Order: sequence, then C-alpha cells, then structure tokens
Amino acid sequence: MPAEQYSDANHIELQCVGCTNVLTFSLLQLGPEGRLQCEQCGKQYVFTPELRDKIQRFEQLLRAVYNARDMLGSANVGIAMKGEEVKVPYRLLLTRLNTMLTLNVGGTETIFRFRVEPLKMVEQTS
Ligand SMILES: [Zn+2]
Repeated sequence: MPAEQYSDANHIELQCVGCTNVLTFSLLQLGPEGRLQCEQCGKQYVFTPELRDKIQRFEQLLRAVYNARDMLGSANVGIAMKGEEVKVPYRLLLTRLNTMLTLNVGGTETIFRFRVEPLKMVEQTS
C-alpha cells in the first residue's frame, strides 16, 4: 500500500532563494547530474553526490519510521508530570517528528521540507 508511495513521488519541497517559489521535486527527478531549475526565475541548483546521499538517507529514515509504525503504536514513553507519570505513545511523539532537513547548498543553508509525513498515514489507518 502507501509504504513506498512517497519514494518516487515528487515530495521534497525547497523554497527558491531567488524568488521564493516553492520547488517540488524528487531525487529521481534530479538525474545523474543532480540539477534542478526554478521554473519561475531560472535559478539553477546543483545537488552534489554528497547532498543527494544525505537526502537519500533522510528518506530512508522516514521510511524506517513508517515501516515500524505498528511497533511504535504500542510503545510508550513515560513523562513525569506533577509527580505523576503520564504515558505518551511514541506514535504521538513521532507525529511531531520534524520532516525538515537543512543542508548546505553552495554555501547557503537550505531547508528541504519532506511533504509526505509517513506518520500521517498512521493516524489514518488506526
Ligand atoms: Zn526561483
């Protein structure tokens, strides 16, 4: 089902530094040279193999979290509140997992947002 759905879809968002247009792309779309161009202002982005590797590993992390969703749903973390321990499901914590990745692109700190949050699917299936 949706487990692999987001791996080949255009799901990474990057705000163009030239015109603030939001570029939506996937790693596959970048091709072997790792090029991405803003349709609005023409600014070119080049993703080095190192950058692409980081993005790929981040995607793997998101996928791993998604694949472990059934275990995460039954795991709890204890939080002490006013002397009482409150159990919070890991799943709930992970829905707040930051799916933004900041990478250095050509000397500029650039934020990539991963639009598909795998844990949103968890909420829908339960
Ligand atoms: Zn632009």
